[in-house]
Amino acid sequence: MSTLNIGNCSNNGGDGSNNSGRGGGGGGGGPCGACKFLRRKCEPRCVFAPYFDPEQGAAHFAAVHKVFGASNISKLLGQIPVQKRLDTVVTICYEAQARLRDPIYGCVAHIFALQQQVC
Ligand SMILES: [Zn+2]
Repeated sequence: MSTLNIGNCSNNGGDGSNNSGRGGGGGGGGPCGACKFLRRKCEPRCVFAPYFDPEQGAAHFAAVHKVFGASNISKLLGQIPVQKRLDTVVTICYEAQARLRDPIYGCVAHIFALQQQVC
């Protein structure tokens, strides 16, 4: 698995600010990436649906689920205002992918490297 461009986590763009837009991708359109990965029914109010599309979203969610666990992410998103959730998902994806690549330091490896450049 070569997932080097972790900046582009969920390519849903600015969908996060528009929570009433598309009913969560459930209903007739098939499950979102998260529900597809978890093989569960995607409900109309699925918290993951705006951020994990059925294609690439499933791969991103796999990393997030492996590191943090789906239920923890679900609980976390529930505590966060809707307009902040896209940023949250992007950073969680970044952290998860960094952690998979570097199980010891995770994204702290990036921070150390950057720190050494400025100090
Ligand atoms: Zn879903």
